[in-house]
Amino acid sequence: MSQLKPSLMDFTQKELTALVKPAFRAKQIYSWLYHNYASTYEEMKNLPKALKEELAEKYIVNPLKIVNKEESSDGTIKYLLELQDGKTMEAVWLKMKDKQLDEAGNTIQEAKYTICVSTQVGCKVGCTFCLTAKGGFTRDLSSAEIVAQVVTLKRDNNHKHNRKINIVYMGMGEPLDNLNNLAKAIEIFKEDEGLCIGAKRQTVSTSGLSTKIDKLGEMDLGVHIAISLHAVDDKLRSELIPMNKAHNINSIIEAVKRFPIDTRKRVMFEYLVIKNKNDDLESAKKLVKLLTDIKAKVNLIYFNPYPGTDYDRPEKKDMLAFQEYLVNHGLLCTIRDSKGIDISAACGQLKEKTQGEI
Ligand code: SF4
Repeated sequence: MSQLKPSLMDFTQKELTALVKPAFRAKQIYSWLYHNYASTYEEMKNLPKALKEELAEKYIVNPLKIVNKEESSDGTIKYLLELQDGKTMEAVWLKMKDKQLDEAGNTIQEAKYTICVSTQVGCKVGCTFCLTAKGGFTRDLSSAEIVAQVVTLKRDNNHKHNRKINIVYMGMGEPLDNLNNLAKAIEIFKEDEGLCIGAKRQTVSTSGLSTKIDKLGEMDLGVHIAISLHAVDDKLRSELIPMNKAHNINSIIEAVKRFPIDTRKRVMFEYLVIKNKNDDLESAKKLVKLLTDIKAKVNLIYFNPYPGTDYDRPEKKDMLAFQEYLVNHGLLCTIRDSKGIDISAACGQLKEKTQGEI
């Protein structure tokens, strides 16, 4: 693979200040990147030409290009993004709450959004229900390629309010398999003079690499974690997530218990409900038992079938009965809205449709 040029988005503000003199120029660049979402040096009007030429030799501005997007009727927009080496990956813009106006037409609450970002091109984990897994693993994303997803989507949606944005690391790839670049991106997102998206508004969703959950915990970045559990016994979980053989359910639960969790928050357990696989009350009962000592919240997700899959979408009545059982036994439980159900909303689907292959 040819050498990729690093990006200005690879740097924390401190690093950029060490790189660009005088210091106020670094501040200006940070503002162009994260307040104006500049994607070229030409847009950075108040920088001297010589400095722009010097930087352009070593660094690109935004390493991503939008090559396709699909918008759903509920406001979800799925993006296919191209990297410098021509590889592609996806990010999703999800509208969580509508803007609210009072009777006089004044804004009382801005709309809220969540951006779902990718951390790798492809994935090594190999979940059998996942389209991304079918294409295997290509490469890790750099921290700039992670950061630029949020910048690119905010720019495309002309979105200026950082406090109204949450980030979930739930796109293509296993975030903890690219831990160093992930940790750097988390820091860059947090920068006060940058995007200023605090750690509490960032959730790392993992398929359950238990040893890496411990490592992330030791880094003490302040982020939330979500665990893709999907099954309550190791036999089914190993069928769905082959990596479960190395990181079984028990090791994941123990790692979660050791993770530094904000006492006001809960650990999210994602449970992908698949018809006749894990949608019965016996599974619900086992799930309650498994999460007994954890301040947990369970998010039930409808499996979204894609062409060629062996699995089916569960019945609504079974989903509701499952939820009712958990709630009656003291667990917080939500059913995830099938956002973007009319577009290719499961990970890997837009890429598949656009290129015909992963
Ligand atoms: S579901 Fe996530 S962890 Fe599993 S193969 Fe797909 S991208 Fe990887």
